[in-house]
Amino acid sequence: MAAVTPGPGPGPDPAARLAAVEAAIAAACQAAGRAREGVRLVAVSKLQPAEAVAAIAAAGQRDFAENYAQELRDKGEALAALGLRWHFIGPLQRNKVRLVAGRAALIHSVDSEALVEELAARVGRERTRDPALTQDCLIQVSVAGEAQKAGCDPAELPKLLDAIAAAGGVLRCRGLMCIPPADDDPEAARPHFRRLRALRDEAAQRARPHVALTELSMGMSHDFAIAIAEGATLVRVGTAIFGERPPR
Ligand SMILES: *Cc1c(COP(=O)(O)O)cnc(C)c1O
Repeated sequence: MAAVTPGPGPGPDPAARLAAVEAAIAAACQAAGRAREGVRLVAVSKLQPAEAVAAIAAAGQRDFAENYAQELRDKGEALAALGLRWHFIGPLQRNKVRLVAGRAALIHSVDSEALVEELAARVGRERTRDPALTQDCLIQVSVAGEAQKAGCDPAELPKLLDAIAAAGGVLRCRGLMCIPPADDDPEAARPHFRRLRALRDEAAQRARPHVALTELSMGMSHDFAIAIAEGATLVRVGTAIFGERPPR
């Protein structure tokens, strides 16, 4: 499984990088005996200018993800004509919910009951404009325990799923997301990916309305091949596509 690691300085152009990531995803799917259609590539464009997103979109990429609420809104508006699908993957403060709800096709980072309630209230209000509006989301789980600040404790997962079910359809939970602790060795992420999948399998045994845990959002530039081997359906890849991020 070839790692796709952009070096410093002028590397291959963005379209070539995207093609290399696509090839590595296809190879990882084949090695795992999985269909390529079972894995969606989400290009993480945080801190990248709108022009860089447009260049990757021109190469055929449709799903993009942002970490900061204002960036999601601003790039979404600047590139509205391209019909891209935006994902939100960063920590979501309750006072930023209004920038993200209804704009993100999928929010990957729901991790507290307070956030579920804020999102449900916001989407409920937006329904006066768009009665069919439903916000799809994932629950972010802190698979490595207390060392991580983002993500809910695995023990809280049933409670959060209950809260989404109780929101009556303004929110829909599609699965789980995790960010393993940073480690130079991609293999170090494998047990965390396994844990997320096991948590999903366990939670899915209990049927809840508006909850269908089909998605596993896991794997980034250096470990997406391992995530695919462990069942990822969404991989979030930034630097391997865009090159190094500009400083914030
Ligand atoms: C930045 C980020 C990524 C992408 O990381 P790369 O190593 O650049 O691929 C994926 N997921 C989340 C939540 C991120 O914040």
